[in-house]
Amino acid sequence: MIKTHPYVKSLMQFMDASPCNFLAVQSMKDILIANGFTERRLDDKLAWKVGDKFFITKNDSALFAFKLGKKKPDETGFKIIAAHSDSPCFRIKPHAEMHGEGGIVRLNTEVYGGPILYTWFDRPLSIAGRVIIKGKDALHPKTMLIKIDRPLMSISHLAIHFNRAVNDGNKLSKQTDMLPIIAKVNDKLESENMLLKLVASELKIKIDEILDFDLMLYDTEKACLFGLNNEFISCGRLDDLSMAHAGITAIIEAKDDKATCVTAIFDNEETGSGTKQGAGSPVLANILLRLTVASGGNYDAFSRAIAKSFMISADNAHAFHPNYASKYDPTNHPALGDGPCIKINANCKYMSDAHSAAIFRSLCEAAGQPFQYFVNHSDVAGGSTLGNILTGQMDIEGVDVGNPLLAMHSARETASVADHIAMIEVMKKFFDK
Ligand code: ZN
Repeated sequence: MIKTHPYVKSLMQFMDASPCNFLAVQSMKDILIANGFTERRLDDKLAWKVGDKFFITKNDSALFAFKLGKKKPDETGFKIIAAHSDSPCFRIKPHAEMHGEGGIVRLNTEVYGGPILYTWFDRPLSIAGRVIIKGKDALHPKTMLIKIDRPLMSISHLAIHFNRAVNDGNKLSKQTDMLPIIAKVNDKLESENMLLKLVASELKIKIDEILDFDLMLYDTEKACLFGLNNEFISCGRLDDLSMAHAGITAIIEAKDDKATCVTAIFDNEETGSGTKQGAGSPVLANILLRLTVASGGNYDAFSRAIAKSFMISADNAHAFHPNYASKYDPTNHPALGDGPCIKINANCKYMSDAHSAAIFRSLCEAAGQPFQYFVNHSDVAGGSTLGNILTGQMDIEGVDVGNPLLAMHSARETASVADHIAMIEVMKKFFDK
């Protein structure tokens, strides 16, 4: 039954189509367009049209979807769901090919964010991202997305026979231990510019059209369910693409026709949100201000709209891991499958407070869904997320939440299928009348 649940099927398809931030944004665009949303550009003049459904992207890696309400923003405020598109991975450096002994070619890579390095060993990996090609002039290059489906490389581990102590702890160098092997080449001519030749042939363009690229490695094994009752999902990038999928699904199904509903998917959360497409930038605040102005309001109306707004910042939490019980808070350790988590931190790393947590709890109860609290063990420093960073741009009330996840930042993370369905139901309730 779980396998055929429409939210589970669409999550699995979404994950497989979204091996990196750029492809995730493309997948979200495809889903939104198929559901009646249209695309606007950031440099378009924004109009206020009741019931209008549209989205805007930034840098091809962040996406903001809107469903305009019957009432103006200063009458109802905005209802906002936020998540992020990026995940820890390896990025290919310029001049990446490293030719070595016996014609073995490796690619030079750089680590993005904080992956658990050794989970990336010995997997069939391939390439996804964006390629920038020549346009009509120097200031207007064009962008093409790329996703090579077949396995192309592997980061092979050292055999245990060379390091018998490997299972006692094995420090890894990002520069020397983590380089993927991509080819065995005997012909020097054939081996020159291998990567660009591959990209050009995949995109059916000429190699000298390529100006630059943002290319990432990804695990070619598809998302799968596991467990006696198919209760778990195993896939890379569930942090935070599962929450992005939930937020997009919720706005498609939003029934609120009075307030304006917003799903905001930022990039670069894993590196601190400090880019123009990250939660630390004014990108969302600016669009909301422009929408308020388009509705006939001024800056005062925008400030009043923000004062009435609420945001659900959705980024995954840590599920209780039975092998590591001592790492968890003694009374608040969310279990896989027991529902969405409200994230609490006394030092305000999360935007949740008793008032905003109470609102999310009430939404869960109204939706008939369970909920849990996530609080760090007091001796363990937790991660940060979107909510607090966004409040640097808008003094908006909100709550940090997320579904519990095992092995966060592993090449394959584990989440609960029931929690995913529950989170979508709660988000739908937030976007309900
Ligand atoms: Zn995250």
